[in-house]
Amino acid sequence: MSVKVRFAPSPTGRLHVGNVRTALVNWLFAQNARIGGQGGQFVLRIDDTDLARSTPEFEQGIEDDLRWLGLEWDERHNQSKRFDAYHATADRLKAAGRLYPCYETGDELDRRRKVQLSRGLPPIYDRAALSLTEDDKAKLEAEGRRPHWRFKLDGRRVAWEDLARGHAEVDTASMSDPVLIREDGLYLYTLPSVVDDIDMGVTHVIRGEDHVTNTGAQIEIFEALGGPVPSFAHMPLLVDANGDALSKRLGSLSIAQLREEGVEPIAITSHLGRIGTSDPLEVAESIEALGQGFAFSKMGRSPARYDEADLKRLNAQALHAMDYNAAKPRLAALGCDLGEAFWDVVRPNLELFGDVEEMARIVQGPIMPVIEDKAFAEAALEVLPETLGADAWSVWTAAVKERTGAKGKALFMPLRLILTGQPHGPDMASLVPLIGRERIAGRLRGETV
Ligand code: GLU
Repeated sequence: MSVKVRFAPSPTGRLHVGNVRTALVNWLFAQNARIGGQGGQFVLRIDDTDLARSTPEFEQGIEDDLRWLGLEWDERHNQSKRFDAYHATADRLKAAGRLYPCYETGDELDRRRKVQLSRGLPPIYDRAALSLTEDDKAKLEAEGRRPHWRFKLDGRRVAWEDLARGHAEVDTASMSDPVLIREDGLYLYTLPSVVDDIDMGVTHVIRGEDHVTNTGAQIEIFEALGGPVPSFAHMPLLVDANGDALSKRLGSLSIAQLREEGVEPIAITSHLGRIGTSDPLEVAESIEALGQGFAFSKMGRSPARYDEADLKRLNAQALHAMDYNAAKPRLAALGCDLGEAFWDVVRPNLELFGDVEEMARIVQGPIMPVIEDKAFAEAALEVLPETLGADAWSVWTAAVKERTGAKGKALFMPLRLILTGQPHGPDMASLVPLIGRERIAGRLRGETV
């Protein structure tokens, strides 16, 4: 069997870490299937049936974010171009008596729900519309009412083997018949999603566990339409570092924002691909490597903890492991390509790629030296070796120690402050030959060079 999955975002906002995790896990699953010789197609399906809320800008943003993360798609669709298929399917369901018109207003439904609750009954739609005669309907329409359309559930236990949750069941008798088409004619996502999954040959539906109940209804719709019913995986939702649901904060956790902050895509994909699994939370070499190790069997029901501190750690890991060839074009773009030796010295100190600018400034100047003891700086200048080879730092600091009597921190910290203007930074022994004698001498004299 050839695996085909889809990611179906609505272009009504920017992608955030929650929906990107869904996209990523779909992508990883497809990639893993491809490695295993089972095809592996990833479909991007823009869920833009809500024409009023969807915008081309958000659609473009989704594509940009996915591409930036390395999540390329094999096929791409817009649901807004497939209304004919939805109309035809709706007609079939109407003819089969599975889709029926209802005329209640929101207020009327609310009132009924309150009555049900006050009697201790579950607030399920009572199917009153099913007993409307053609005359009743004509009368309601003459009043100016437009119908919304509900799918008539079988009302039974719908069961499936969920790839992430194991055996899953939904009792559709405990659910209201879902509205598939609103009174303004808008298709809610439930029906288009099933129609597309069938037409596009989607084999696996992978999404968040907030869709479990929908799945019960959708499996009935798949069956009513003659299927085939795909496999399902519902992933535990994201929680924050304290274990609280992240859903309310997701809006502020956009990929665009992380990108702006300078976070590496591989740090994001490693984090989102591995939280909530039994894999160690380490940065992956590539997203292909993540896909290679992907398995739903590693994903339990435990919540996936999205922790910014972990993301930061993975980001640093990614930079520390980045080789010069990968860094070179980005260094050049920042005007910081000072060669491979420079990159090797600074990369263990990077938290964000952009930190490299500050480090390049230490090498190239200008740096305002911090001199706390002028006599110490003068003494250090007097014994500064003529040529600065690989062992310059140890030779020089030994001489400064002999001349001034300073040792340990009292020896190294003032030199660091003078040469770099900061109390922390890359290894001094490696930095010194890069900065060069002329600049070091200038900084020891108190010059901003
Ligand atoms: N647009 C839907 C959502 O984002 C798609 C759900 C699905 O994957 O079926 O919730």
